[in-house]
Amino acid sequence: MKQKIALLGSTGSIGEQTLDVVRRHGDRFEATVLTAGKRWQRLAEQAREFEPDAVVIADERYYGDLCAALADRPVKVYAGADAIEQIVRGGSVDTVVNALVGYAGMMPSLAAVETGKKLALANKESLVIAGRQIIETASRTGAPILPVDSEHSAIFQSLVGERTPARRLILTASGGPFRTTPREKLAGMTAREALRHPNWSMGAKITVDSSTMVNKGFEVIEAHWLFGMPADRIDVLVHPQSVVHSMVEFDDGAVKAQLGTPDMRLPIQYALTFPERFTYGGERLDLARMATLTFEEPDREKFPALEIAYDCLRRGGTAPCTMNAANEVAVAAFLEGRIGYCDIVRLIERALEQAAFVAEPTVADYQACDAEVRRMTAAMIR
Ligand code: NAD
Ligand code: MG
Repeated sequence: MKQKIALLGSTGSIGEQTLDVVRRHGDRFEATVLTAGKRWQRLAEQAREFEPDAVVIADERYYGDLCAALADRPVKVYAGADAIEQIVRGGSVDTVVNALVGYAGMMPSLAAVETGKKLALANKESLVIAGRQIIETASRTGAPILPVDSEHSAIFQSLVGERTPARRLILTASGGPFRTTPREKLAGMTAREALRHPNWSMGAKITVDSSTMVNKGFEVIEAHWLFGMPADRIDVLVHPQSVVHSMVEFDDGAVKAQLGTPDMRLPIQYALTFPERFTYGGERLDLARMATLTFEEPDREKFPALEIAYDCLRRGGTAPCTMNAANEVAVAAFLEGRIGYCDIVRLIERALEQAAFVAEPTVADYQACDAEVRRMTAAMIR
C-alpha cells in the first residue's frame, strides 16, 4: 500500500521538494491531494504529472482557470481556504504535509490532528500560534506529528531510542545574511539583501524571518510544543555552516546531534518514512572538505526578535499569535518596499504593547487576535 499524501502548499519551496521525494519513491508514496495559494498554472502542471484525486486553489479568483486547465483530467477541483481544511479531514489521506506559509496553516494542522492523520509539519506558524491546541488534540487522537523543520527533525532524530528525557535542546542557527553586518547598517538593508540567504534556498517570508531571527525565535516556540521543553532549557547557537542541524543534551553530559548537508529533502523524507530510512540521492556530507565547523553565541542586541519570541513563549496565551500576525504584515510590507528593515521588529514590539491579550485562548480567540493585529499593524504602516 502506498502512503497517500495530501500536500498543502505544493507550489512552494517545501512543496516542490516534497514532490521530489514523492517522485523518487513513487513505489511508496502517492500525492492524492495538491493545494496552492495562487499559482494555478504550476498546480495544473503538477496535477498532470502526479494525477492526484483532488486539487485546491486557495485563491478563488483562479478557480475557473484551473478548472479549464484540467478539464481533460479526472481530477476534482476545489477553491478556497475552507476546501483545504475539508479535504484534510476527508478519507483518502494518510499523511498531511503542511507546507503552507503563515497563519493559513493553522486550521489545516488542527484538522489533520483532529482526524488522527499523520502530520508532517513544515508550517511552524501553526505551532507558534496554536501549539497547545495542536499538541493536546494530537495526544488525544493519537495523530503523530513529524517535524519537517530541519532543526526539529535533528532533535527528533537525536531523541529516537532514548528513554530518559533530554536536559536541554540546542537549536543551531545559520545567523542569516546579516550575521556579520554591523548593527548600525541594518536599518538600510533592502529586501534583495535580506533574500540572499547564505545556505538555504527557501520561500521569501521565511528567508526574511531568518535574517531577523524571527525564524529562530519561532523555532524555539515550535521546539517547546513538539518536545515539551520549557523555554529556559532551549538554547540557540549560531553555526554558520548549517551542517549540525541541532543538538540534544542529556543528564549525563552526552550531547547528540544530527548532521547533514543543508538540503530540506532529507528531513522531509524522514518525516514521511519514520521509523524507516529510505535511500537518498542527494549530495553526501563530506566533513573533510568542510574542514571547519564554527559556533558562536547569537547577538541578542542586534537581533532582538529572538528575545521577543522567548518572552512571547513565557507569556503564552495570544502573545505568540500577536507576534506572528504583526510579523506577517510587516514582512509583506518590507518585501514590497513600503517599510524599512528595522521597522519589522519595531512593528512587532508595538503590536505586542497594544493588542488585547487573552491568557487561555480558544481557536476563535486566535482568529480574532490575528485579524485585530493585522488591522492594527497595517494601520501603523499607513
Ligand atoms: P513558500 O512561500 O515557498 O510556499 C508556500 C506555499 O503555500 C505555496 O504553495 C503557496 O501557494 C501556498 N500558500 C501561500 N499562502 C497561502 C494561503 N493564504 N492559503 C493557501 N495556500 C497558501 O514557503 P516555504 O518556504 O515552502 O515555507 C513553507 C513553510 O515551511 C513555512 O511555514 C516555513 O516557515 C516552513 N519551512 C520552510 C523551509 C524551507 O526550506 N523553505 C524550511 C523550514 C521550514
Ligand atoms: Mg528551520
